[in-house]
Amino acid sequence: MTTARRLVLLGGGHAHLAVLADMARSPWTGWDITLVSPLPHLMYSGMVPGLIAGHYRPEDCRIALAPLARAAGVRWRQARCTGIDAGRREVRLVDTPDTPDSAGATAQDVLGYELLSIDTGGVMDADLLEARMPGASRHALAVRPIEGLVDGWARAVQRLQQHHPHGASVAVIGSGAAGIELVFAARQGLAQAGLAGVRLSLLTGGGPVAAGYPAGVRRRLQRQLRQQRITVLPVPCTGVDDGAVHMGTAGSLVCQLALLATGSGAPAWLQGSGLALGPQGHVATNRFLQSTSHPDVLAAGDVADRADHRYPRSGVHAVRAGPPLAMNLRRAATGQALQAYWPPQVTLNLLSCGTGHAVASWGPLSAAGAWVWRWKDRIDRAFVARHHRPQQPS
Ligand SMILES: Cc1cc2nc3c(=O)[nH]c(=O)nc-3n(C[C@H](O)[C@H](O)[C@H](O)COP(=O)(O)OP(=O)(O)OC[C@H]3O[C@@H](n4cnc5c(N)ncnc54)[C@H](O)[C@@H]3O)c2cc1C
Repeated sequence: MTTARRLVLLGGGHAHLAVLADMARSPWTGWDITLVSPLPHLMYSGMVPGLIAGHYRPEDCRIALAPLARAAGVRWRQARCTGIDAGRREVRLVDTPDTPDSAGATAQDVLGYELLSIDTGGVMDADLLEARMPGASRHALAVRPIEGLVDGWARAVQRLQQHHPHGASVAVIGSGAAGIELVFAARQGLAQAGLAGVRLSLLTGGGPVAAGYPAGVRRRLQRQLRQQRITVLPVPCTGVDDGAVHMGTAGSLVCQLALLATGSGAPAWLQGSGLALGPQGHVATNRFLQSTSHPDVLAAGDVADRADHRYPRSGVHAVRAGPPLAMNLRRAATGQALQAYWPPQVTLNLLSCGTGHAVASWGPLSAAGAWVWRWKDRIDRAFVARHHRPQQPS
C-alpha cells in the first residue's frame, strides 16, 4: 500500500492564490495537500484603503479561500501556524475561530509534511512596536493584521461619532505606500461618516513623504496632501497614549485616533524553526524560491527574503511570485530540477489619494488623475473577481 505524500501550504496569501489556481487547472495526484490559514478569506490589501474611504464594502475586498481550496482538491484547515520544526518536517498549528486574532484558539496540533510552502505575509510584532514606541500596540490601530485594521476602523469611527463629532484629530504614523493611502482614505471615510472638521496629520519618521518613490511621485503626493489639508510632520513617533502621539523633542500631538503604518516584519515563530533566516528574520530563499537551508521548503511573498536579489516587499511582488512558486512546487514534487525566478526590476505602482484620484509610477515615470484611479479600481476589482468561486451550497 502506498501512502500519499503531504504538502502543506502555509498561509492563504497572494502567492498561494496562483498555486491553488494551478492545482485546480491540473490536479496533483499522490499528494495529500492542506492549506492552512487562520481566516476563511484573504483580505486584498490593495482595496483596503478604498474600504476605509467608504468606497468598497468588506465583501468586495475578500477572496474566499475554502472554495479555491476545494476547486484545487486541497483540504482547508482554519488554523494559525505557531512554529516550524524544519528538521522534523513538522508545523505546529493552533485552530482559530472566525476572528482576526487567535485569542479564542481552540486546539493545538502538529502537521507533518514532505513539502512545505510558506506564504504567511508580514506581521507587526507587538513587542518590537512597544520597544520603539511605548503604548503603540495598545493605543494605536495597526495596519496588520489587515482584518484587524478593517474591524478596528469601523469601531474607531463609531467612537469618534459618539465622542468627537466635531474637530477630531487623527494621526497616521508612517508615510510609506500604506500610510499615504490610509491618510487620504481616512480623510474621505471620516467625512462620509459625518465627522466635521477632522484634522489629519501624517508622521513621516523624519524623512520625506514616500521616501522610496521617485521625485515626480513625491511632488504629486505633496500637492494632494496640501489640497486635502493634511499636515505632514517630518518627525518620528516615540510613543502613543490614550489621547496623544509623542514625537520626541518635537513634543506631543493631541489625537483621538492614531493609525500605525510603519511597515511589517517577519513572524517571531520563524525563530527556532531551523530554517536559514535573512538579516531581519525572514525565510532566506534562493533563486528557486527555495529555502537556502531546507530544499523541501519554499517560500514567497512578504515572509521571504531572497538572499541573492533585493526587491521591495509588496503585494505586486507576492502576486508575481505565485506562478513560479506553483511551477517549482510541482517540479519539487515530481523530482524535476527547479527553475530560477527573477522578480521584475520595475513594477507598476498605483497609489490612491482617496476615491477619484490616484498616482501611477513605473520606474522614473509618473502620472496622476481621475483616470489613474479608475484604472486602479478596474485592476483591483478584476483581481478579486478572478479568484471568486461560488461557496458550496449548504
Ligand atoms: C493598507 C495597505 C495597503 C496596501 N496596498 C498595496 C498595494 O496597493 N499594492 C501592493 O503591491 N502592496 C500593497 N500593500 C502591501 C501588501 O499588502 C503586502 O505586500 C502583501 O499582502 C504581501 O502578500 P503576502 O502573500 O506575502 O501576504 P498576505 O497578503 O499578508 O497573506 C498572508 C496570508 O497568510 C495568513 N497567515 C498569517 N499568519 C499566518 C500564520 N501564522 N499561519 C497561517 N497563515 C497565516 C493570512 O491570514 C493571509 O491569508 C498594502 C499593505 C497595506 C497594509
